[in-house]
Amino acid sequence: MLKESQVKRILNSVDFLFDEQLKFTQELVKYPSLRGQEHTAQDFLFNAMSERGFSMDRWKIDVEDIQHHEGFGPVTVSYENAFNVVGTYRPSQSKGRSLILNGHIDVVPTGPAEMWSRSPWDPEIIDGWMYGRGAADMKAGLVANLAAYDAVRASGLLPQAPIYFQSVVEEECTGNGALSALLRGYQADAVIIPEPEENMLVRANVGVLWFKVRVTGKPSHTREMDQGFNAIDAAYASIHALRKLEEQWNSQKNDHPYFEDLEHPINFNVGKINGGDWPSTVPPWCEFDIRAAIYPGISTDQAKKEIKETLKSAVREDPRMGGVPPTITYTGFNAEGYVLKEGSDAEMTLRECHQTAFKSELQTFTTPGYLDARVFTIYGDMPTLVYGPKSHDIHGFDERVDIESVRLVTKTIALFIANWCGVEEAHLSKENDNR
Ligand code: ZN
Repeated sequence: MLKESQVKRILNSVDFLFDEQLKFTQELVKYPSLRGQEHTAQDFLFNAMSERGFSMDRWKIDVEDIQHHEGFGPVTVSYENAFNVVGTYRPSQSKGRSLILNGHIDVVPTGPAEMWSRSPWDPEIIDGWMYGRGAADMKAGLVANLAAYDAVRASGLLPQAPIYFQSVVEEECTGNGALSALLRGYQADAVIIPEPEENMLVRANVGVLWFKVRVTGKPSHTREMDQGFNAIDAAYASIHALRKLEEQWNSQKNDHPYFEDLEHPINFNVGKINGGDWPSTVPPWCEFDIRAAIYPGISTDQAKKEIKETLKSAVREDPRMGGVPPTITYTGFNAEGYVLKEGSDAEMTLRECHQTAFKSELQTFTTPGYLDARVFTIYGDMPTLVYGPKSHDIHGFDERVDIESVRLVTKTIALFIANWCGVEEAHLSKENDNR
């Protein structure tokens, strides 16, 4: 248990260091850490962690090492620049419970930059919001992990258990970054991931699949259009069939605890489409990319089977499919959803810390989005708390994060570190002599 005076010191330290924390977050947002370009941002974090005296681990993700795992997502790009970074704080004597503070460095594409009010890589703070691609999802959280630790140390306290600061890649496409960190052996008594979750704790989330559907047509001149077979029309028919599957899965929401109250928990997104070669030629090909969601407890194999069946029966029932089954290729996420068990010690500690920082009760909710927490929860059996700041328009134009919320979330995490890991007064510690 922390003393009242220690709590005050930690909270004050977060405030005292907060401007520095924001500046550091802005620096990090300036790195366009899109998929395949995360390495320079990772170097920046590597240095920041080294300066704190952590023992450092940086490795390139090797598909060979992880592809056997059931949570692995197929890879369609080079991992030349896909580095994970982990900094470990280790007390001289470990007495408390260990902690992983995780976040992802990768961000999604900006879309047409001219649709933004300002450059997505120019993180200005305006009216209490920090703008920029990745500001909310999730560089503010990634930095909050480090800033929370800084505040504990600045308040003259030494955590009494190992803390692993993880910055992983691939959260937005496969989850292979988190998987690689788990398989490298990182394990702790609890995990916090400060994703932008509106100051709430995630109770449950969906699993996600990425796949590409390719339809093959038959080209012909448009004067004899009926001689050809239009792959783009067939793609529309395929999408129509998948939409019906989406509705079917949504209609099953009452069978899945924590999903009953969501209006539309299962979202299929047609995220990309390409097809055809010439306006006056019946298109011989079309392909589109889908992101589909599944409930926790549904295996990805089961979902894949239903997806395949759906397109097969569409071929039988819809003449626009031309009698030819489309090919399905899995291109990323192969992820199951999870439910966070209620009432764990980690959750109770978070509740207490949130209450102190926010002066309000912690709320929980179910999110229809992917989270790396599934790796730690399902395969690592660690209580994983996804909890982070208020945001707007993540994955959209003018993504932004609420500054005050970042401050309070940082306070919660700092208190969590101190409560969970335990602390010792630095001036009483021998350990302090060598730091
Ligand atoms: Zn995220």
